[in-house]
Amino acid sequence: MSISTALEDYHKQLIQYFLRDGAYNEKEMIDLLNALRDRYKLKITIKDEIRTFTNVFLPLINKHINQYGIEIKQVTSEEYENNIYFVCIQNFKPQFVKMDCSYTEKEAAVFEKLLELVITNDDKCVAPREVFEGILANDLKMTQKEFGEIMARFHRDKWIESGSDNTVILHARAILEMQSFIMDTYRDFIYNCQICTRLLIRGLICSNSSCDVHIHRSCAARYFHRLSNSTSNSTTKKTAYPCPVCKQEWNKDDVVSILKTNNVHDENDTERSTGTIHKKQRTSKTNDHNNSINNRSIRSTHRQIRNESDDDDDDN
Ligand SMILES: [Zn+2]
Ligand SMILES: [Zn+2]
Repeated sequence: MSISTALEDYHKQLIQYFLRDGAYNEKEMIDLLNALRDRYKLKITIKDEIRTFTNVFLPLINKHINQYGIEIKQVTSEEYENNIYFVCIQNFKPQFVKMDCSYTEKEAAVFEKLLELVITNDDKCVAPREVFEGILANDLKMTQKEFGEIMARFHRDKWIESGSDNTVILHARAILEMQSFIMDTYRDFIYNCQICTRLLIRGLICSNSSCDVHIHRSCAARYFHRLSNSTSNSTTKKTAYPCPVCKQEWNKDDVVSILKTNNVHDENDTERSTGTIHKKQRTSKTNDHNNSINNRSIRSTHRQIRNESDDDDDDN
């Protein structure tokens, strides 16, 4: 093996946490890094936690864990383009995934049904009730209560997130981890982003009905942000926000809604994001009604770290 740099204890701790929890949002990641900083006296500048993690810790950690078929990657939510996540994905899984070995067959079956209903739906979202009905139609015995608990776990573990009108949508974690399964199984229902060329389930669509261009919200934010900077002094342009392919003016509402956000991320994944600099590390405008649930897991993480830490500032 040609591993040149050894892992320190705090790297090993980070790996442990990722193996246990699977995914963290930006705030959880910062809290975790702060707790590690306190415990190991690390030199991480405040507000610079994510950059240090992606540029310094992550390349080394991934170099070590890749041999076990796992990798930690950064992903952006398709729906809430300011929300980034760090997820531990398993590269060795060939087809449909049990998500991780702690899920039961039944839970995996619920997820498989949910995935099918979301992806085959034009809006790429589904009402939980439809999933439940689909499960019953598949002759799977399950009470409403049991179903509710399974769905809560999917939320908590970041396989799904809330869409509009009480629907659920796929979390970026699920899209990343299950992309080969999704691409093999649902080829006719999915797209590739025009900008980053990666799998896209739910993004923005060109307003020209004969143009098939789809773009991730986060990619569109970068693309139109760049355009608006380069054309801000020009009043002669016929179209301010042209589609990258057909050049027809992009839907104004879409552009306005993504440009309103002031947190344009440079990257959409870890391969390139190892060079990312997150200038802002504010708490994202989270949809999360399940934020409190998410926080529970990070709190337990803290408790463990702090067993041996005498620092007591509270970040939540
Ligand atoms: Zn994209
Ligand atoms: Zn177009």
